[in-house]
Amino acid sequence: MIYALPTLAYSFDALEPAIDARTMEIHYTKHHQAYVDNLNKALADFPETAEKPLPELLSDLERVPEKIRLAVRNHGGGHVNHSLFWEVMKPGGGKEPAGRLLGEIEKNFGDVLKFKEQFGAAAMGRFGSGWAWLAADDSGQLSVVSTANQDTPLAEGKKPLLGLDVWEHAYYLKYQNRRKDYIDAWWTVVNWDEVEKNLTSS
Ligand code: MN
Repeated sequence: MIYALPTLAYSFDALEPAIDARTMEIHYTKHHQAYVDNLNKALADFPETAEKPLPELLSDLERVPEKIRLAVRNHGGGHVNHSLFWEVMKPGGGKEPAGRLLGEIEKNFGDVLKFKEQFGAAAMGRFGSGWAWLAADDSGQLSVVSTANQDTPLAEGKKPLLGLDVWEHAYYLKYQNRRKDYIDAWWTVVNWDEVEKNLTSS
C-alpha cells in the first residue's frame, strides 16, 4: 500500500474566513504531504506491515515492528488524522448537529452547547501540539478526548468522529497565539453530516 494525499473536496480558500487559504495550502500540500511521504518511507522495507489497514496498525501499535513503530505512530497518525480533518469541514459549515448525532450528543453531554464547551476546553487545554476529538467507544458511548502530537483515539480503542487540529501550523498565520479565536471560528465550518456519517458507520 502506497499512501497518497486524499483529494480535497473544496478549494484552499473555501473555508475562509475561519481558515485562511494560505494556511490550508501549506497545511495540506506541505504538512500532510510530509506525513504521507514519511509513512511510505517507513513502510517501504516492511511489506507485511504495509499490507495492513492503517487504523488497524494505529489501534495496536505494539504489533508494529519496533523499528518503525514511532514513525507509524507519528506519520501514520498524521495521515489518518488529517484525512479525517479535511472531511469534517466544509465551506459554509453544516449548521448544527441533527438527527441521530444530535440525540447522541444530548444523551452524552446534555446539549450541543455543553458538548462544544467540553470540546473547546480540551482543544484549549492541550499543551503544545495535538488534537481535540469527539470519539465513540465500542459500546457507542461518546466522549471528548485530547491527544498529543499525532496520536489518535484509535490507540485507546475509540473511533474518532470529529477532530480539531490544534498544532500551531493549523492556525498560526492567521491567529498567531489566539488559539481560542481559531477554535471559535472553526465551529462555523464543521461538516456535521460527515460527523454523523462517522457515527453511523461505527
Ligand atoms: Mn496539522
